[in-house]
Amino acid sequence: MPHVITQSCCSDGSCVYACPVNCIHPSPDEPGFATAEMLYIDPVACVDCGACVSACPVGAIAPDSKLTDKQLPFIPLNAAFYPERPAGVKLPPTSKLAPVLPAPQIRRSGADLTVAVVGSGPAGMYAADELLTQNRVRVNVFDKLPTPFGLVRAGVAPDHQNTKGVTSLFERINSRTGFTFYLNVEVGRHLSHEELLRHHHAVVYTVGAPNDRRLDIAGMDLPGAGTATETVAWINGHPDFADLTVDLRHERVVVIGNGNVALDVARILTADPDDLARTDISDTALDAVRNSAVREVVIAARRGPADSAFTLPELIGLTSTAEVVLAAEDHDLVQQDLAGASDPLTVGKLEILATLPVASQTAARPRIRLTYNLTPHSVLGDERVDGIEFRRTGTDEAVRLDTGLVLTSIGYRGAPITGLPFDDAAAVVPNRDGRVIDPATGNPVAGAYVAGWIKRGPTGFIGTNKSCAMQTVSNLVDDFNAGLLTDPAARPALLDKLIRCRQPDVVDTAGWRAIDAAETARGDAEGRPRVKFTEVADMVAVAAAVPEPPIARRLLAGLLR
Ligand code: NAP
Repeated sequence: MPHVITQSCCSDGSCVYACPVNCIHPSPDEPGFATAEMLYIDPVACVDCGACVSACPVGAIAPDSKLTDKQLPFIPLNAAFYPERPAGVKLPPTSKLAPVLPAPQIRRSGADLTVAVVGSGPAGMYAADELLTQNRVRVNVFDKLPTPFGLVRAGVAPDHQNTKGVTSLFERINSRTGFTFYLNVEVGRHLSHEELLRHHHAVVYTVGAPNDRRLDIAGMDLPGAGTATETVAWINGHPDFADLTVDLRHERVVVIGNGNVALDVARILTADPDDLARTDISDTALDAVRNSAVREVVIAARRGPADSAFTLPELIGLTSTAEVVLAAEDHDLVQQDLAGASDPLTVGKLEILATLPVASQTAARPRIRLTYNLTPHSVLGDERVDGIEFRRTGTDEAVRLDTGLVLTSIGYRGAPITGLPFDDAAAVVPNRDGRVIDPATGNPVAGAYVAGWIKRGPTGFIGTNKSCAMQTVSNLVDDFNAGLLTDPAARPALLDKLIRCRQPDVVDTAGWRAIDAAETARGDAEGRPRVKFTEVADMVAVAAAVPEPPIARRLLAGLLR
């Protein structure tokens, strides 16, 4: 009864370290880890101890006997990562435990290490976690929203509640001694980089990639042309996108690009609203899906099936929950690609695509159509979008689709940070393993670090940020030990005063917990995990109603800061 890793694998590697027989790979120290779509359990070596189940932050692991029908394809997928061999024969070189990466060790005496982390998404929370493995460390985590956890709250699709379960891990991190939240505080507006450095040894930016890559074709400024990333934020009730117009009156939506974000949007726009009503989708988006005229979401890729950007676990998940079809001519492309493919993940995707029904069949419910070799040429319409024209890739053949909504899903893009250098081509802050580098001199910028998407670009999964943050923190601690970081000039309590003076509506951990409790209580009443607030003012009002802690506790907190 070996254990199996399933769709919501976040790749943070916690299971690897928990496994006593080293049967989960690739581990963070192995070459394939950075590009792996998920981690895999070796069914021959697994001893069924269940240690990985407790360690997994997103509930992705179960014994093979407890999988749902939809999860059964993950049994051969896990096994296929390992060479075939008789039962009981272990893999030769893997008899030792996975090496536990050494935690950074503070060796310098004197002032406690004090670090500002800007951005409370996965990279920020993993960076704080790694820093707080040491005593004598204080971490202040800033976020411009009154709610933490970045894309876990605003980017993970609402029907992927298991994945959102990683917030339980983040809640444990924010309960640790030395951790302070300053939410609803925008660095660059309420506080500058220089001010943060005056109060901390170092600043780690984990701000992600807040923009989307823009598609430069005619018609993209028409009403009815938008982006999948904004639509995901609207679906998730992000306050900045709560009023987005997502027009679902036409029976077809076209999504350009076929990464996992495209799959998320297509799945939600074609889902049964009664299923969505059991998630934490925003009420506005739920109403829009209930009243939607959409019968088909077309996901159009500019390259062929073998180059599909979605991952195999997400394709398995999609085809087990949604009605997915393929055009007849695309079936031919799948067969051609299958003939030349050797990489197991590509073959796995192509084999699933080959089983999809042909698009011409009539659909009983809204469906998703995957299509290939279509390069976007222009969005059509006078007052608003009424179609899109592609060129068959590599030819002049025009292909037109009628639609009322075109969503580009061609990736996220990092934005410059005031006071730091920016590599405009790669849309990241130039860095060497997390140390920000001044491109003019090639030298590190003292006290400035990055982790997550602003460090390495918008790729990977939630847990990929764990090893990414560990690398940055390890270098930061080395710099601290080497005396390269300047002690803060101001006393810690003064930072608190400064922030409250600049932003009286700052939300702390107690305030966030009050928002969280109010949202989950609203959800309880409707049988949903939570009903989110989508207005900052409502969140701030709930946080402000938290009674002040007794004076003795406040004095103690001030002393500890
Ligand atoms: P992505 O995986 O990078 O996919 C981008 C897509 O846009 C590709 O199909 C790409 O095609 C296409 N594209 C780029 N430029 C284009 C152009 N000018 N014209 C037409 N098509 C163009 O991006 P994403 O979907 O935004 O995902 C970002 C990251 O988040 C990925 O690592 C993804 O796995 C991760 N994510 C994971 C999950 C999950 O695990 N459930 C969910 C959401 C996101 P080419 O390949 O031809 O360039």
